[in-house]
Amino acid sequence: MNALKRLLAPRKQVKKKSLSAKRERSELELLHSYRRALVKHGTDAISLDLENEFYWHFQLSALIAHAYRKFDEINRKHFSGLLTRPKIIFCNRSTGGYYNKTRHTIGISIAMAVEHGEVEFFETLLHEIAHIAEQSHSPRFYEVLRKIGGSGRKAPMTTLLRVKRDRFLAEHYSVRVRCPHCNKEYRYRTRRALRYACRPCCEKFAGGKYDERFRFVAVTFRSRCEADKTAT
Ligand SMILES: [Zn+2]
Ligand SMILES: [Zn+2]
Repeated sequence: MNALKRLLAPRKQVKKKSLSAKRERSELELLHSYRRALVKHGTDAISLDLENEFYWHFQLSALIAHAYRKFDEINRKHFSGLLTRPKIIFCNRSTGGYYNKTRHTIGISIAMAVEHGEVEFFETLLHEIAHIAEQSHSPRFYEVLRKIGGSGRKAPMTTLLRVKRDRFLAEHYSVRVRCPHCNKEYRYRTRRALRYACRPCCEKFAGGKYDERFRFVAVTFRSRCEADKTAT
C-alpha cells in the first residue's frame, strides 16, 4: 500500500513588506506612474498637461521646498522648535497623504497636488504635521491641527481616486438599480437587488412596508468579466 503522498508546503505566497527595499521615487517617476494610471483607467489626462515635465518638476519641487519652510515656521511657533524635521516627499496615494512614524516621513499625494494645487497640498501637510504630535484622529489631534492652522476638512476627490473607485464599483457592485419613483440609483453585488424596493420611498409612502410601486428597475447589468473587458 502506498504511503500517503507527502507534499512540501507551498512556498510562502505573502510577500513581506520591506521598508528598506521600498525605494523612494522621484517626482518625475511618480508623475509618470500617475499619468500611466490615468491612461490605464481610460481617462483623458491631457487637460492637466502632464507631458510638460519641466513645468511640473519645477512646480512640485517648489512645493516641497515651501513645505519645509512651512514646517520650520510651525515648529518654531507652536512646538518651541522641539520637533525633528521630517522628510517631506510626494507619494502615489490617490489623494491626501500619510505620516510614517518609523521613517519620520510625510508623503503627500502627487495626484492631489497636481489637480488641486497648493491650497490642498498645504491642508494635507498641516494634517500630517499634526500626526507627528498625535498619531490617531483623536480630539487632541484636531486641537493641534486647528492650532497650527489646518481646517480639518477632508482631502478632495481626484480624477485618479474617482476612476479607481468607479472601477472598483463596476467590478464588485456590478448591478445598478434605480427606484422608479425617486430615481435614486443604487449598486449591489447580485441581481437579487431587482427584488428589492426603495427603502426611503417605502418608508415615506408605504408605512415602511414593501411596496411594488417602488421596486427597483435595472439600470445596466454587467457581469464581472464584461466589466473586466471594458476596463482593459
Ligand atoms: Zn490623518
Ligand atoms: Zn425611491
